[in-house]
Amino acid sequence: MSDRTVNPASTSDDFLQQADLWSASNYAPLPVVITRAEGVWVWDVEGNKYLDCLSAYSAVNQGHCHPRIVETMRQQAGRCTLTSRAFQNDQMGPFLEKLCNLVGYDKALPMNTGAEAVETAIKTVRKWGYKVKGVAENAAEVIVCSDNFHGRTTTIVGFSTEEQYKDGFGPFTPGFKVVRYGDLSALEAAINDNSVGFLVEPIQGEGGVIVPPDGYLSEAAQLCAGNNVAFIADEIQTGLGRTGRLLCSDWDKIRPDVLILGKALGGGVYPVSAVCADDGFMEVYKPGDHGSTFGGNPLGAAVAMTALDVIVDENLAGKAEEIGDWFMNELRAIDSPHVVEVRGKGLLIGVVISDESGPANPFCKALKKRGILAKETHEQVIRFAPPLVITRETLKSVLPDISSVLRGEGLAAS
Ligand SMILES: *Cc1c(COP(=O)(O)O)cnc(C)c1O
Repeated sequence: MSDRTVNPASTSDDFLQQADLWSASNYAPLPVVITRAEGVWVWDVEGNKYLDCLSAYSAVNQGHCHPRIVETMRQQAGRCTLTSRAFQNDQMGPFLEKLCNLVGYDKALPMNTGAEAVETAIKTVRKWGYKVKGVAENAAEVIVCSDNFHGRTTTIVGFSTEEQYKDGFGPFTPGFKVVRYGDLSALEAAINDNSVGFLVEPIQGEGGVIVPPDGYLSEAAQLCAGNNVAFIADEIQTGLGRTGRLLCSDWDKIRPDVLILGKALGGGVYPVSAVCADDGFMEVYKPGDHGSTFGGNPLGAAVAMTALDVIVDENLAGKAEEIGDWFMNELRAIDSPHVVEVRGKGLLIGVVISDESGPANPFCKALKKRGILAKETHEQVIRFAPPLVITRETLKSVLPDISSVLRGEGLAAS
């Protein structure tokens, strides 16, 4: 194997070839090789500048390399980065206090990636089901939605409805029931004495920016409350300002029993995730029940505190609402035979390309040629989700290019 080499790589083509050679092919990225990033902009190794309209799936809500977040990281990196939970550090407590006060819960359990936090939420409601609700041993059921995306662990992909996510990865964890997203009667019918939780995304980002019917979330929350079932909101992508509120749940005035955060919690520089809930759920844990070597580490905790401060201090939720509303209207005003729908909330926007126009990927490639990075989700949907620090002027400046591409210009050339 060692005779295969693309070293030293210098051009984008070199780096693409090198990654192809040495990386498992579990992704099909746009062919752009980014070397530098600042705010809403990224630069490739040839020096071309692009507007980032994906924000690493909303992990960079605060913008790339936010100076305050980077400075916190620099300082904490020079002081203390990892203690493990075998010892206490002086960053985790302040972080959890800040987080709990901001989102309004008694306690938080810190993890690293989103999938780990989802796993943690599942473990939490299962244990709560056995210890508090009184479900018989190993009978607990968690209800999930069609077209969900909650991460890539074997348990989580086991209850995905996307065949590719599961193909070849079984056998899967039992104890999950899938109901149609947006369908209240399906949820009602699925609830039984063994139901411990209903796991739902307030908007399905990976599912194609699917916004549920009005009233769905609040009525689902009421159904859960009435049946002693934990309402678990996965706000890893929709949370922390993205949809124009701190939490997307805020739009429906609901307070999930269990709240899952990740992505932007780490400010785009470090993986930090957390599960938030009140004592009634969190008190099921005793020492040794659950853990993570890096969960709650001082570097991540320090970074997350500043990441949260930036969201609040710069009113990123308010900006997402204002700019998102305007941008969505501008996108809807584009007269294109290829676009069937523009949907979303705040700065989580999906542009749906009609089946007759072919998949969305060539549109993304054409956007890339014009200096705009967006990625399709679910074949037909182009997601526009720039960092929330974006200005209206910046978006205005790229609208003519977006408009041209959506109307079909430059598709053949890609
Ligand atoms: C990204 C995402 C996850 C998984 O997060 P990772 O950090 O990639 O493990 C889970 N749920 C939702 C809604 C997401 O968008």
